[in-house]
Amino acid sequence: MFKFLKDKVKKAISGLSEKFEEEGEVVEEVVKKKPKEVKKKDIPKSKPKKEEKKVEHIEDVPKPQVEEEEEEEEEEEEEEKKGFFSKIKEKVTTKKISDRQFDEMFWDLEVELLENNVAFEVIEKIKQDLKDNLVDKPLQRRQVEEIIIKSLENSINEVLDFEKFDIVKKIKTKKPYVIVFIGVNGSGKTTSIAKFAHMLKEKGFTSVLVAADTFRAASIQQLEEHGKNLDVKVIKHDYGSDPAAVAFDGVKFGKQKGLDVVLIDTAGRQHSNINLRDEMKKIIRVVDPDLKVYVGEMIAGNDCIEQIQEFDKAIDIDGVILSKADIDEKGGTAISVSYVTKKPILYLGMGQDYGDLKEFNKEDILKTLGFRE
Ligand code: GDP
Repeated sequence: MFKFLKDKVKKAISGLSEKFEEEGEVVEEVVKKKPKEVKKKDIPKSKPKKEEKKVEHIEDVPKPQVEEEEEEEEEEEEEEKKGFFSKIKEKVTTKKISDRQFDEMFWDLEVELLENNVAFEVIEKIKQDLKDNLVDKPLQRRQVEEIIIKSLENSINEVLDFEKFDIVKKIKTKKPYVIVFIGVNGSGKTTSIAKFAHMLKEKGFTSVLVAADTFRAASIQQLEEHGKNLDVKVIKHDYGSDPAAVAFDGVKFGKQKGLDVVLIDTAGRQHSNINLRDEMKKIIRVVDPDLKVYVGEMIAGNDCIEQIQEFDKAIDIDGVILSKADIDEKGGTAISVSYVTKKPILYLGMGQDYGDLKEFNKEDILKTLGFRE
């Protein structure tokens, strides 16, 4: 995960700071500087010749200031004689860039971010934050790269700063707790439900799987297979039957058996298919779930975000599981989904085994992107 994004961002950071150095307008400023304390043993036997001093001298300073500064220099030489801790002057060369220069400089990073599935809204935020930190600010060469890295880190930190909730805590509030899983075909929905059932079992909760995807015969079999492997009961009807009726039976079973959680699989609906979306609304109306979780493939990038937005309009999504994070080398979806959709990412699917469901953690993402040790 994030391999490409991490590499590209790293390259773009040094590219940006190089361009800053090449294209920035030179700003020179004379500042007073207190030299670091000199220990007795460091004091040379004879006073070094003036030209050996590293600091720039008053000769370099623009005319109008000369008189005043000559006076000051004399004073300082006095001080120097006295205590060796005098203030001396240093000409500091900084550079600054304009708004227009910044836009041109940001272009490469913008393309890299887009190519790595970072959403437009997130790119705009990163860009604005960087602009605020770089434009019209006289900066020294050594500061620039550090500021760029810090700015990017802060932007991503903020982008990932969504309110997450603890499903396990919620589950304890109601019995049975009903969760409907939604997502387009092949996104990893059924696998994620099985992983979820496995996680619940590990934590000591009981559950039932409900095969409300009656649209594909294979999907009922797939869920049955998982049920067998996990030793979790599966409620199913025949292929082609009413999904809302299966979901209803699943919840009824959960209630009768006093189970903790009912996990409902639904058919993979393309968000553009209105009939199927209406069918989904019917399931929601009939079972009135406690949670609606969207399962989307991380590799789908902006499509994944659009699908969440479409489903959210129809049935109001509560949270997201991003599957196939293990095979997505770009990573931009993970830092974009919540910022754009305002829905929290709850888990990441990290593989095909039952144990490969990982709670979403912002710090892990920042670490994987190289912003944390
Ligand atoms: P559904 O149609 O949405 O129910 O999707 P499935 O659960 O059938 O998954 C489709 C394919 O994606 C299967 O081959 C799964 O093994 C695979 N898959 C699901 N989740 C993950 C994941 O987190 N990582 C990887 N590498 N593959 C996954």
